[in-house]
Amino acid sequence: MTGAPTVIVLRCENCHLRFVPRPGRCPKCGSGSLAPHAILAQATVLAATELAVPPPDWPAPHRLALLEAEEGLRLLVVVRGELPRIGETVRVESTDRGFVAIGRGEGDAPAAGADRPPFEPPR
Ligand SMILES: [Zn+2]
Repeated sequence: MTGAPTVIVLRCENCHLRFVPRPGRCPKCGSGSLAPHAILAQATVLAATELAVPPPDWPAPHRLALLEAEEGLRLLVVVRGELPRIGETVRVESTDRGFVAIGRGEGDAPAAGADRPPFEPPR
C-alpha cells in the first residue's frame, strides 16, 4: 500500500484484535500489549442512517455509518457530507474525536438537510 492513505488502529499483540484507538487495554482479552497498526483509509458502507432528531447537544443532521475496512475491521463512524449508500466506498479520516467517514459533498457545511431527499433503504 505504498502511497495510499492510511489510518492507525490498535492491534492487540496477544489476541490480534484490531480496534479504534482508545485508552486502556484490549477490550477482548485485557492485554496491555497494544501496537499501532496501519490500515487503508477507505472502507465499504454496510449500513448508514441519519438521525432525524439527534440529542440536543449533537450536531444536526447527524449521520452514522457502519463500515467494513481492510481485513474485515468494522467501524461505526460519524459521516461528514452526504449520507453514503450501502456498498459505496468511502474515505475514512482520523480525528481527535474518533474516525469519520467522508461522504459525497464533503467540505460543504451541511445545512438542515431539508434540500435532500430522505434516505432510501435498499430493497
Ligand atoms: Zn487482546
